[in-house]
Amino acid sequence: MKIALFAGDGIGPEVTAQARRVLETLDLPGLTLFEGDVGAAAYRRHGHPLPQETLDMARAADAVLFGAVGDFSCDDLPRDLRPEQAILGLRSELGLFANLRPAAGFPGLEHLSSLKPDVARSIDLLVVRELNGDVYFGAKGERDSKGGREGWDTMSYNEAEVRRIAHSAFRAAMGRGKKLTSVDKANVLETSRIWRETVIAVAAEYPEVELDHMYVDNAAMQLVKSPGQFDTIVTGNLFGDILSDQASACVGSIGLLASASLGERQTEYGTFGLYEPIHGSAPDIAGQGKANPVAAVLSLAMLLRHSLGREAEALRIERAVEEILADGVFGSDLGGTASTDEVGDAIVRKIVTTS
Ligand code: NAD
Repeated sequence: MKIALFAGDGIGPEVTAQARRVLETLDLPGLTLFEGDVGAAAYRRHGHPLPQETLDMARAADAVLFGAVGDFSCDDLPRDLRPEQAILGLRSELGLFANLRPAAGFPGLEHLSSLKPDVARSIDLLVVRELNGDVYFGAKGERDSKGGREGWDTMSYNEAEVRRIAHSAFRAAMGRGKKLTSVDKANVLETSRIWRETVIAVAAEYPEVELDHMYVDNAAMQLVKSPGQFDTIVTGNLFGDILSDQASACVGSIGLLASASLGERQTEYGTFGLYEPIHGSAPDIAGQGKANPVAAVLSLAMLLRHSLGREAEALRIERAVEEILADGVFGSDLGGTASTDEVGDAIVRKIVTTS
């Protein structure tokens, strides 16, 4: 079993260090961990945010654990050399098209959500976001116009792209509450019209799943008004990016939420994937011991479950996290005082004492 660890920039190395300690505590036989450079750190050392040797390392692994990339000192670099290209490049080079972002309230932390406690308590949803298409990957550029310089980006999805993410979402819904909400903007966008028609066609193969459709503006409103109505949400890259961050704020902190990016490649142990917190490099708190490592630790749990077939260990981690949060061990993002290391210590201690 091989895991490639790419810590990246800002708080990336701080939070993945805690995930690494948790992994070492589990002491899985036959596991090898490789570390590679990504983002601004890689640009400084190799002249590129995603060096070839990092990509080769990812391809040779059974799973990738990723921290975060992004550094404002790189803002003036050409787009293809900016740190964020590392994660976009990994997703497209590795064919990772399905991004799973679970968001569920933690018992006892409801008061930390910006929503009323009983509304926050009702959140238990999964956003399945398409990751390889949409306006992020379409042609883009800058041109002159009567109004001065004009930026333009192209949004598109073809049926094959929608079909494969729809299958991922229906399968995920089958393993949850068998209810799928497809989010689009089919009243305005041609891309969304094809999206909706294709999702409806795929639904015929999953008669047990109840499918409904929602415009993205309404979905954003419903997520804060009554999030308990959602079980599984499937949507495109742009809408999914925004809605999953919104869902995280409903839970309490962006530092709590993990994600998995999966493709079609199967390994000896499961589905190859890349796992990362949904947050970025948080330069405003980097180096201060304030980063919440829970999202990175829960990303490791998802990795063990989906890519290494280690459900028992994934559950052990998830239980340990729930327990330390219920014990009140959390940092300033949740109104507590624990440092990044102290949260990591507490998780490791729980895992050791419950083994
Ligand atoms: P961000 O997620 O880094 O931070 C948003 C806010 O949440 C900040 O106030 C930050 O302090 C806080 N926060 C984030 N993670 C936290 C944690 N674990 N614990 C406590 N607080 C946390 O988003 P941003 O500020 O918009 O972007 C910063 C950089 O990260 C940018 O360069 C951006 O491009 C990059 N980014 C990278 C990824 C990725 O690597 N996948 C994702 C999003 C943003």
